[in-house]
Amino acid sequence: MSFDLAARLAARRAEHLYRQRPLLDSPQGPQVLVDGRPLLAFCSNDYLGLANHPEVVRALRDGAAHWGVGGGASHLVVGHGTPHHRLEEALAEFTGRPRALLFSSGYMANLAAVTALVGQGDSVLEDRLNHASLLDAGLLSGARFARYLHNDPASLVGRLEKATGNTLVVTDGVFSMDGDLANLPALCAAARQKGAWVMVDDAHGFGPLGAHGGGIVEHFGLGPEDVPVLVGTLGKAFGTAGAFVAGSEELIETLIQFARPYIYTTSQPPALACATLKSLELLRTEDWRREHLNRLIARFRAGAVELGLALMDSPTPIQPLLIGASACALEFSRLLRERGFLVGAIRPPTVPAGTARLRVTLSSAHSEEQVDRLLAALGECQALLPAEEDA
Ligand SMILES: *Cc1c(COP(=O)(O)O)cnc(C)c1O
Repeated sequence: MSFDLAARLAARRAEHLYRQRPLLDSPQGPQVLVDGRPLLAFCSNDYLGLANHPEVVRALRDGAAHWGVGGGASHLVVGHGTPHHRLEEALAEFTGRPRALLFSSGYMANLAAVTALVGQGDSVLEDRLNHASLLDAGLLSGARFARYLHNDPASLVGRLEKATGNTLVVTDGVFSMDGDLANLPALCAAARQKGAWVMVDDAHGFGPLGAHGGGIVEHFGLGPEDVPVLVGTLGKAFGTAGAFVAGSEELIETLIQFARPYIYTTSQPPALACATLKSLELLRTEDWRREHLNRLIARFRAGAVELGLALMDSPTPIQPLLIGASACALEFSRLLRERGFLVGAIRPPTVPAGTARLRVTLSSAHSEEQVDRLLAALGECQALLPAEEDA
């Protein structure tokens, strides 16, 4: 017996699915230095340009000066500090829910919420395009796990009819690789009719969506009775790191008592919570960031239509261009990089087979002129690509 890792790696390479990490040698922003070259990046999730905002940086530095660096222990021992607590209170107020609970990452928040709420004898129903962390959480929970067709309330109803025990319906708010919005009003209505709870992971909605950045629930005007379990992550539009679950007093106390990914891990550095408190303030109040971003989205979409690019149905800063074959998406990305643009080729298993894409993301830190330059480069590279045959 041996682990034939070399064969596994070779097979991945042969399928054009090999992953490589671009080495970033600058802060986040439109202009980055990657593998020693200046590039214009259209692939980060820093949608509001807060990851390197001077006031957020200062809050982190001041936080470290006051609170030190390490969290020191888990929240239940001696790691739950005043900055964490203040941030939880601010996030509860922001989301209009009684309580919020802070996590070190979105992956852990999702594992925690799903596994604490459902187990053997229960059911978890997920959109088939949900983020990997939600799918992993469902599988790990031990509950009966079923996927419904993407954003399809009728398919959800079919699954709900077969569900047993406590039933949790789980969906991305904004789908991370497609950019489209969950049809929450219909999905929530279907779930409520069957007494199921809805959990929404709005990692990409908080910040860009909603009049005040409150994400998809603000966008649709949905309350805690529609979405009892609301997850947000802090590493995207918030520009910092971590995540939160917002909901009722009972929900949050249940997570504190029973959620193993909450209990058995060190709290995030308190200075990080100080930084997020500042970025939350900017995210809520600086509406011009959302307005500028929406102008860029409209400009990009109009330009892409003109070029005949395969846009997806997305009103958000995630504007993927569907390519199909992984090799083709890689080649497109490589041609763009030669011209000074960084756009990631997203391939299976992150997306379904045959749907490799260029995941273009926009940020309020981009200028209109930069978006125009990207469009010009996309047109040029498209013309250089061989017509697609394989899939
Ligand atoms: C990024 C992401 C996560 C994971 O959040 P991290 O804080 O990066 O671990 C979870 N859900 C969705 C939809 C995401 O896009």
